[in-house]
Amino acid sequence: MAWTRLAAVGHGSFATVYLAASSSSGDLFAVKSAELLNSDFLQTEQRILSSLSHPSIVGYKGFDVTTENGKLMYNLFMEYAACGSLADEIVRRGGRIKEVTAAFYTRQIVRGLEYLHKRGLVHCDVKAKNILIGGDGLKIADFGCSKWVLESPAAVCGTPMFMAPEVARGETQGISSDIWALGCTLIEMVSGAPPWPTAGDPVSTLYRIAYSGDSPEIPSFLSATAKDFLGKCLRRDPAERWSTSQLLKHPFLGELSFGFEIIKELHSDFESPTSILDQGPWNSLEEGSQTLLKTETWEDDRIKRLSVFSGEIKWKMRDDNWITIRSCVNDDN
Ligand code: ATP
Repeated sequence: MAWTRLAAVGHGSFATVYLAASSSSGDLFAVKSAELLNSDFLQTEQRILSSLSHPSIVGYKGFDVTTENGKLMYNLFMEYAACGSLADEIVRRGGRIKEVTAAFYTRQIVRGLEYLHKRGLVHCDVKAKNILIGGDGLKIADFGCSKWVLESPAAVCGTPMFMAPEVARGETQGISSDIWALGCTLIEMVSGAPPWPTAGDPVSTLYRIAYSGDSPEIPSFLSATAKDFLGKCLRRDPAERWSTSQLLKHPFLGELSFGFEIIKELHSDFESPTSILDQGPWNSLEEGSQTLLKTETWEDDRIKRLSVFSGEIKWKMRDDNWITIRSCVNDDN
């Protein structure tokens, strides 16, 4: 497939993620690229992602190897999440996500984890930065650390702040370690802060997680139901943590708690274009999703004129003015 690399939309420790467009159809997708020489983790991610298909998992779209500036690049193609990551969403919402919205998001993450865990796959790096906001809901992404439960014990992998005690001690990293990280992610959503105080160096935080007997502090402003849910995720003994199937039945994730307003709000947040060529005369101005495209004519070099600025997709017009074709800004808080 011929394609064009557009703007960078995210940087991780091992790779850069770009918006890309198919040269033939103009369909937008994301491409995660790393130099071929250092792409083992990306190739592992490709093998895992290509075996998965679920609405709460980022969609796989293929891979290739290209030569760019004299270097061989390994490129993994994925569904493009126009609103970026859940970490971006926390910032957009003023640093905190309301409990009811966080519950709605958590339900989708747990559904994705249930799908992975039933297949014997441990994600190993659940955190807001690795959850994407797609056109039809939240998507678990970044499978660079993931491993099969039955694989011979691999080195522990992930982000120290989100590691369960057994992972921090280097003993084991299983399905229940993802549940601990889910609890940490929920704290991140509702408080906008990491699950452990950031004062102190990472090594002492890891030591505290491993040996102190403490669990992350559950925010006092949460409802009793949310606190109870977090308590089920953040049990230090992995055998006592609830499974995804149990969590899906917990009242915190009960479907009836999600009123019409939140569905409407989320729906408007999630609508986004998938193609820059197919949009044509897209003369809408939707409040909430801030879709402000007003152009009738597309130019041949349109792809070069697309740019992405922190969650907003802008298009440069012939008169040099930028117009916004997608913005995920909202005023929830
Ligand atoms: P890490 O440091 O967590 O290992 P990584 O190198 O594996 O990172 P990712 O976490 O997969 O890279 O991606 C980095 C960032 O790029 C994400 O936090 C997100 O903001 C953005 N991103 C990743 N995939 C997509 C996508 N499919 N659509 C839109 N943005 C994406």
